[in-house]
Amino acid sequence: MPLQTSQAQNVFQQTYDYVRETALLESTLALLEWDERTGLPAHAGENRAEQVTFLSGIVHQRKTSAKFGHWLDELVQSELAMQPNSQVGASIRGMKRDFDKNIQLPESLVKRIAHAVTVGQQIWSEAKPKNDFAAFLPHLDVIVQLRREEASILSNGSSCRYDSLLDQYEEDAKTDEVAVVFADLRERLVPLVQELTQSRSRPDGKSIVGVFDLTKQKEFSRWVAKQIGFQFERGRLDETDHPFCTTLGPNDHRILTRYYDDSFSSGLYGTLHEAGHGMYEQGLPPEWFGLPAGCAASLGVHESQSRLWENMIGRSKEFWQWCLPHAKTWFPQLNAVSVDSIYADLNRVEASLIRIEADEATYNLHILLRFELERELIDGDLQCVDLPTAWSDRYESYLGIRPKNDSDGVMQDVHWAAGLIGYFPTYTLGNIFAAQLLNAACDDLGELPSMIAKGEFQPLLQWLRTKVHQHGRCLKPTELIARATGSPVSSQPFIDYLSEKLIPLYR
Ligand SMILES: [Zn+2]
Repeated sequence: MPLQTSQAQNVFQQTYDYVRETALLESTLALLEWDERTGLPAHAGENRAEQVTFLSGIVHQRKTSAKFGHWLDELVQSELAMQPNSQVGASIRGMKRDFDKNIQLPESLVKRIAHAVTVGQQIWSEAKPKNDFAAFLPHLDVIVQLRREEASILSNGSSCRYDSLLDQYEEDAKTDEVAVVFADLRERLVPLVQELTQSRSRPDGKSIVGVFDLTKQKEFSRWVAKQIGFQFERGRLDETDHPFCTTLGPNDHRILTRYYDDSFSSGLYGTLHEAGHGMYEQGLPPEWFGLPAGCAASLGVHESQSRLWENMIGRSKEFWQWCLPHAKTWFPQLNAVSVDSIYADLNRVEASLIRIEADEATYNLHILLRFELERELIDGDLQCVDLPTAWSDRYESYLGIRPKNDSDGVMQDVHWAAGLIGYFPTYTLGNIFAAQLLNAACDDLGELPSMIAKGEFQPLLQWLRTKVHQHGRCLKPTELIARATGSPVSSQPFIDYLSEKLIPLYR
């Protein structure tokens, strides 16, 4: 018997309050993880893993409690669920979807995963600088084994376990469909990359070579993040060994980057990327924090925001028309550099080993090979012990280069240490979404390039707030992008964007 509307509203209020309390625990967990990645004392690791494991168990109990399940069963049959794209309707749909998944997972498995990934990240951050894959291997083995176990449960006997991991980051994405998109991209990107890297008139990269004071880099990165619209009254920028962004509350968004003194672009682009994530989180409706209406639509949509600000804006000529005179006040060594040369050098296409430093064209090949390796780890025969060789072989085959060590190879990313298997494809989906969003923003705003050239970023940010951020998870990712842009998701705008931008630089 469906509830009357007023009864349903009471149940919804109860559910809202309950989920907001769960979100307090989850954001406390996020704070513990942020702290772990920003300077945990060497001997504090095991206690931190115990804290995270214990809290993760409590969060899982709350997310799978009988009373929560009962409220959701009532709500999905009520009138409140009849408008599936409203904030209330979408939150009911999203909470029910998440509940049905969580209830399948034993608390013991959730806790073992929480423990393994907390320790795994600590070991990874010690082993990576020492190039010690052997030290990391047993931990990685446990993480992959646990994620396989989780995927087996969630896939309910389906032959593709990877689907259930991918789905955790990108609602309703299917491995086979993503594989088709990637195969198509590969077919079109490999000749483009070849054409560009074999061109005789390649940018030489000289304008960005030099020694860049670390303190000035930090000031500069912070200043740029503020200019594009990251709100520092609601967030912070810190340092870590692998850039990331996390949300500790509706008004507490933490972004982290890393700086090298021989390159100012690593710190700056790490900041722009993470600020893109942070500004998305800052644009979600705070009153819905912790519920689907207050969450990001998907990791692919998240990456569309970070990749858009990092590359499509941050590596555009107009951005450097605005930014270069300012950059020269921090870095006088750039005084003789022209907009044309820095623009060309920051868009140099070359086969390289490090994903997060890669240019926009080769970047997707870095993702493709990780996607293939992950699928083999979860559904195929690939074992962790064989990963370094499989990794290097694939770099050689796709990019023609082979890492000299595991630090620059299989251990370069934190993702697998953090249990994030199924996450990588969202970066390329993000690039595809971002190109489509950029086209639509240009159509709607008219003078976007000249706004960027003047350092006017608010119109674009407002456009993203209206079209993407404020909708939270009320629409499925592909629906959200289609509505925001007026056309179904397609990789064509991204391919066109790359060709139109990069080919003229190589003539
Ligand atoms: Zn990102």
